[in-house]
Amino acid sequence: MHETNNSLHRILILLLAFLLALPAGLAATNQRASERRAMVENQIAARGIKDSATLSAMRSVPRHLFVPPEQRPYAYRDRPLPIGHGQTISQPFMVAYMTELVSPGPGRKVLEIGTGSGYQAAVLAAAGAEVFSIEIIPQLAEAAGKRLDDLGYGAVAVRSADGFYGWAEQAPFDAILVTAAAEFVPPPLLEQLAEGALMVIPVGSPFFVQTLMLVQKRDGKPYATSLMPVRFVPFTRTGE
Ligand code: SAH
Repeated sequence: MHETNNSLHRILILLLAFLLALPAGLAATNQRASERRAMVENQIAARGIKDSATLSAMRSVPRHLFVPPEQRPYAYRDRPLPIGHGQTISQPFMVAYMTELVSPGPGRKVLEIGTGSGYQAAVLAAAGAEVFSIEIIPQLAEAAGKRLDDLGYGAVAVRSADGFYGWAEQAPFDAILVTAAAEFVPPPLLEQLAEGALMVIPVGSPFFVQTLMLVQKRDGKPYATSLMPVRFVPFTRTGE
């Protein structure tokens, strides 16, 4: 009896030592995991998102580490949040909805325009895609690239440029996701989309309600369907 207690103690001490020695990165990822599970259940699955790669990516990416410290308490709420430079990170549902639309499984090459914080790019990468992301504001691009590296999404390629021109050297893409509202679909992006592939893009005038469009390239031509009214920050051009 006494011996059993002793070995039990030893096991408990070993377990405690193991827990204390967990790497900081892993601890950060586990932080707020229960809030993420609730977010996925109440805001995302409850609204009809079913794709398992999307749901597990939304459960795993630590959204609170993609927003400025003062926004962290609100990271898992059902709303967009400011990320500095007048830009915003979309509400979690919108990120999941756009992710599910482009089915970002392994072996798929996805281009994102509007890296912002890097959160959407991390979600696409966590769902298995090879991700290329372009951000027009150099400070955001630099911070997002560093953040993605630090959090283990170093495979995401981030470039600071005007996303209007896409990323020709890496084309064709199996999907393109635009996270800023454009007045029209930039022709270079359509060109860089693979035949039969999908682009998701908010189209419309900045400062008004825009329409989230699903554009499929068939025989080299765009076929567009409107999905829902949305509000995104404006797609800007270099020099504006
Ligand atoms: N997807 C981001 C949120 C993006 S907000 C995230 O998950 O955090 C939209 C971003 O698009 C902003 O950072 C804005 O600077 C960027 N943007 C606007 N016009 C752009 C352009 N022409 N090319 C690349 N990025 C652009």
